[in-house]
Amino acid sequence: MLKRYLLAPGPTPVPPEALLAMAMPIIHHRSPDFLPVMDSAKKGLQWLCQTKNDVLILCSTGTGGMVGAVNNFFSPGDKALVINGGNFGERWTKICKAYNLGVEEIKIDWGYAVKPEDVENALKKDPSIKGVFVQASETSTGVYHDIQALASIVKKYDGTILVVDAISALVAHDLKMDAWGIDVLIGGSQKGLMLPPGLAFVGVSEKAWAFAEKATSPKFYFNFKKERENLAKNQTNFTSPVTLIIGLNECLKIVQAEGLENAFARHARLAHATREAVKALGLEMFTKESPSNSVTAINAPAGLDGQEIYKNLRVKYGITTAGGQGHVKGKIFRIAHLGYAGTFDVITAVAGIEMVLKGMGHPIKLGSGVAVAQELLMA
Ligand SMILES: *Cc1c(COP(=O)(O)O)cnc(C)c1O
Repeated sequence: MLKRYLLAPGPTPVPPEALLAMAMPIIHHRSPDFLPVMDSAKKGLQWLCQTKNDVLILCSTGTGGMVGAVNNFFSPGDKALVINGGNFGERWTKICKAYNLGVEEIKIDWGYAVKPEDVENALKKDPSIKGVFVQASETSTGVYHDIQALASIVKKYDGTILVVDAISALVAHDLKMDAWGIDVLIGGSQKGLMLPPGLAFVGVSEKAWAFAEKATSPKFYFNFKKERENLAKNQTNFTSPVTLIIGLNECLKIVQAEGLENAFARHARLAHATREAVKALGLEMFTKESPSNSVTAINAPAGLDGQEIYKNLRVKYGITTAGGQGHVKGKIFRIAHLGYAGTFDVITAVAGIEMVLKGMGHPIKLGSGVAVAQELLMA
């Protein structure tokens, strides 16, 4: 037997309370049994997204929420400004193009964060840009983009909304939807929310709802106006993913018991300890600035294949992490500390990295990274 550890940036481990709740018999989504379940999920998500706005619950992965954000708020020919600093930024461009938006990109070298003044300048130059699309945490590079700064810029333009993919950032980073002025905030179930894959969440501001009134892109499955009407009745437009929503309530209870600020602080602490431990092994961060609290991206040491490190962690020690995506495949590997994660997840990851690197012939003093993590995470 090989005991398994899931330390990937999605899916993430699911707490036993949620697993148990999801093992209960299915209830019918149009029966009165379901109404309080949906009501509680709806309110919990508003709390999590720090908003009074509607937070829609969609039965899809996170990407479905991204697609819905494009086809519900924009029309063919509308101008989109995409902040593309990684694989998921690239996904914004692909979705916008699929719906015939005109895309202008701010390309950022992988590992770096967007400079808010570049967005400011782009909007000044072309105020007809209707949407600014960004990731909060760019999972492929381990970078956090400064959403507060971006929101303060976009807020000044009545004809522009800020669309934030916070799929890997929710629960790990403070994202004040209302206070900062985020227009569309997208989350997913299998990341910080500690659930299986299958739910997307979309918070929508009043400014964005006004865009929805004018948007002519085709829509059927993801129809946010219909979802909004249904949400008001504690329903979803089509069959509700009842099991996942029951699980969602359990996970929200866990985050509520911890407190939002404490959840952010826990993720920041785990991320910091991971970085310091790995640096103590002589490894370099792939992320050059503004590291995410959700995932740590590490350069493979010279001469070693990042995919081999990732594969050895899984095959030899049962630790599932992530390799590199796109053009950095083979050059990096990534460790998540997201959702149902604590001290010994970091220690497991660091110990595993030490053992794998030593096994690959890299000079490592066993325990030297672990000791740093222990020092930083001691209660
Ligand atoms: C995981 C993730 C997504 C969505 O991926 P799905 O496979 O559709 O759930 C989107 N953006 C970011 C930043 C992610 O980390």
